[in-house]
Amino acid sequence: MSLQNDPFLNISNSINNEYIKEWQASKKRVIGYYCTYIPEELLYAANLLPFRIRATGHEKTELGDILMVRFTCSFVRASLDLALRGGFDFLDGFLICNSCDHSRRMFEIFNMKVFNREGFKKKVPRFYFSVPHIITEEGFNWYWQEIIELKEELEMAYNIDITDSNLENSIKVHNENRRLLREIHRLRVLEKPKLSGAEALRISVVNSSVPKDITNQELHRIIYKLKESEGIKDLRKRIMFVGSIIDDLKFVNLIENSGALIVSDFLCFGTRNFLDDVQIGGNPLEQISKRVYHRISCPRMMDDHERRLKFLKNEIKTAKIDGVILQRINNCDLHGCDNMLFEHELKELEIPVLNIDREYVQADTTRLRTRIEAFLEMIK
Ligand code: SF4
Repeated sequence: MSLQNDPFLNISNSINNEYIKEWQASKKRVIGYYCTYIPEELLYAANLLPFRIRATGHEKTELGDILMVRFTCSFVRASLDLALRGGFDFLDGFLICNSCDHSRRMFEIFNMKVFNREGFKKKVPRFYFSVPHIITEEGFNWYWQEIIELKEELEMAYNIDITDSNLENSIKVHNENRRLLREIHRLRVLEKPKLSGAEALRISVVNSSVPKDITNQELHRIIYKLKESEGIKDLRKRIMFVGSIIDDLKFVNLIENSGALIVSDFLCFGTRNFLDDVQIGGNPLEQISKRVYHRISCPRMMDDHERRLKFLKNEIKTAKIDGVILQRINNCDLHGCDNMLFEHELKELEIPVLNIDREYVQADTTRLRTRIEAFLEMIK
C-alpha cells in the first residue's frame, strides 16, 4: 500500500494548493517565509498560514540571475526567479530572517523588485528579524526580544491581537504535528521501512504548505495506512541523506532508483523539523522562542557542529545506516563547511561517505548517477 498516488501528497508537486485557496476564501491570510528559524506557532496563532518558500519544479533562474550574482545559491536564485514571474503573488505577507547571507539578501530584493514591481497592486506587508549565529544566554535574550517585536509588528500590520490563549492553542497543534511526524519517522527506520525517502520528503513538503490542523488529520490517516502496509522488502543499501535544501523529488529519486533507500536524513525539509517540541507552561511566546533557538541547529549556527555530529552518529546506529550521502548546493558555505567536517569525522569511524556539490536545478544527471552507483557498489 504505497503512498505514491496519495492525492493529499500530490500537493508537494505544486506551489499553491486548494487548502491555501480555501484558507484565503475564508478571509484568512498566508505568509511566506525563509526559513528554519521562523516561529511558525506565532504566525499560526495570528491566523496567518505559514508557507515555507520553495521553488519545487521550477527550473529557471534567468530573471533571478539578473539581480543576484551566479555565486549565490541556486535555490535562492530559483525561488527569486519564481517570485519575479508571479509565483508568490498569492502571499499576503512575507517574513525573512538572516538564516544565511544568500536568503537574507532576498529581503531587499523582494521589497524592491517583487512586491513593488510594475503592475503588482496588492499590498504585502514585509517583516524581517535577526537571529544570532551562536547559542548563548545573551543570544537567546536577543532572539526572544526580536520575536516580541515581530509579534507587535504582526499585530499592527494586520490589526489583530495575538493572545496567550491563541499561542497556547497553536503550540498544541504544532506539538501534535511534530509527534505525528516522529511516529512516521519511526516507521521509516524499521528493518523493513514502511516508506521510502521520496515519500518522507513529500510528507514534509506538504506539511509546510497546508494548515497544520488539516495536516494532522491527514497524518493520522497516513500513519494508519503505513502501519497496515507490508513495508519495503527488497534489499537496498540504507542511506542517510544530509545537507542543503531539497524540496523536490529529482535528486531523491536518482538515489533511490540507483539501488538505495534513504531511511533517514538531516535536511531542511526533514528530520530537523520535528525533533524538538515547545515546552508547555510559563510564557508561551518565550517557550516558542526557546524551542526555535535551542532546537537541533542547522549549520548557520556556529559552535554547534558537535551536537549535529552527535545526531548523525545516533541516527546512523538507530536507523542501521550503510552509508551517508552529503550534498550541498554550490556556494552554500554553511553546508559546505559542515559537510567537509562530517566527511572526515564519519570516515574516521569507517562509515562510507559520499560528498557531492550540486546545483538546485538538477543538471549533469548522468555524472551524478555514476558517482552514486559507484558509491553504493563500494558499500559492503
Ligand atoms: S542551501 Fe545554503 S545558501 Fe542556499 S538557502 Fe540554504 S543555507 Fe542558504
